[in-house]
Amino acid sequence: MASTKRPKPVHQLTSAQFDSMFPVGDEDACKAYLKARRWPQGVRCPRCGNPAVYDLPSRQWHWQCEKCAPDGYRFSIIAGTIFENTNKPLRDWFKVTHLMLTSKKGMSSRQIGRYMGFGSVKTAWLMGHKIRTALIQKDTDKLGGIVEVDESFIGGKDKNKHWDGVDRWPRKHRKSTKTPVIGAVSRKGNVVARVLEHVTSQACTAFVREMVSNKVSLLATDESKVYQGLTEYNHRTVDHHRKQYVIGAVHTNTIEGLWSIFKRGVVGSFHKISAKYMPLYVAEFQFRYNNRFNSDIFGTAIAGC
Ligand SMILES: [Zn+2]
Repeated sequence: MASTKRPKPVHQLTSAQFDSMFPVGDEDACKAYLKARRWPQGVRCPRCGNPAVYDLPSRQWHWQCEKCAPDGYRFSIIAGTIFENTNKPLRDWFKVTHLMLTSKKGMSSRQIGRYMGFGSVKTAWLMGHKIRTALIQKDTDKLGGIVEVDESFIGGKDKNKHWDGVDRWPRKHRKSTKTPVIGAVSRKGNVVARVLEHVTSQACTAFVREMVSNKVSLLATDESKVYQGLTEYNHRTVDHHRKQYVIGAVHTNTIEGLWSIFKRGVVGSFHKISAKYMPLYVAEFQFRYNNRFNSDIFGTAIAGC
């Protein structure tokens, strides 16, 4: 585990605060909140970005844009969001988002469905996935400082669990139904993670070059050959096969700690995740970690919806 102490995460919206901000049945409170987060500079047309839109006097939370349609384009507060085409109240969406963000390891759709009193798990599952798409972080800055990079195999079926931690096979030959994920973390900073099709030298070095500044003071990985081509970086390795774990500042404990949090979430709450949906769980995990000191994590999530 990392020896460096990290500051405690800041307090986030409690359940009581949530309930007083969004009283049961008060859809207007949710709409006002969504409007403020979605359009902090004032309402814009979701189609063409035009800021000069008109209130529709006959319908609250509806506007009209005269720019992108000959007869005017009418849109509602939820047009172009993940909340569109849903029969669930906004408050349910907000509550599910809040539940997902406040549980450290994530919450299964079964738990969410039960908590929310939804008739089917499917409803919670669909909502969860839509919310995860809103948490995908786009255009992240390249990581700097001291950066650790590592891959991990996540999810899969129980019968392959015995492969966990068994490292005597070369990685590329390891049999597994698990999904390979690569991640880079700046110590005390952000993480970026991505699902890989295969753990190849080409895929891993391309990921590092895209996500990590080559001006980092240190790039730390394990001894794996897949990182050998990164000669433009100050790249140092620890050899786990030789039981080397920490050489001065060179270790991969931070990223390994993150994998273990992610895996506990996946194993504990989600049982099995197919490779198809793994990118969404990776996005959720990344968003939660990168906003761990953000007291407005809920507002940030809603702004992306
Ligand atoms: Zn428009």
